[in-house]
Amino acid sequence: MTYHAQCSCGAVQLAAEGEPLVQCYCHCNSCRSLTGSPVNTPVLWPRASVRFVSGEDKVRRYSKSGHREGGTLSCGVCNGLIGAVLPEADLFDIFAGLLSDLDFKPTVHINYENSVLPIRDGLPKLKDMPEEWGGSGEFLEE
Ligand SMILES: [Zn+2]
Ligand SMILES: [Zn+2]
Repeated sequence: MTYHAQCSCGAVQLAAEGEPLVQCYCHCNSCRSLTGSPVNTPVLWPRASVRFVSGEDKVRRYSKSGHREGGTLSCGVCNGLIGAVLPEADLFDIFAGLLSDLDFKPTVHINYENSVLPIRDGLPKLKDMPEEWGGSGEFLEE
């Protein structure tokens, strides 16, 4: 399966090969301030599974920590957010709203300690990040 994503204006198009590793809700402060939404919906693939179909030259990259490879990606034409590259975990994150052919089925909440919008859906709530991404791997109660 190849999944397709595009920004609001369509200048930037992505293709992701294979099933995503994780579909989740992220409640972190950084997602909240970047997206202007109380909760974000990252869909994660291995970095090597995602490629730009068009508009790579239009992509703007923002990294608070100044990381040269990592950071948040947005379209330089429509300013729409696209996702993020997480070099430490070797992941490419595409925000769920951009994926036209993915049936979004999140299985976990991450960074729930920062939540401003509690969601009682019975899914596991990680306090921060999974251990394999450098987090504590601890779970919180709903
Ligand atoms: Zn765009
Ligand atoms: Zn986040």
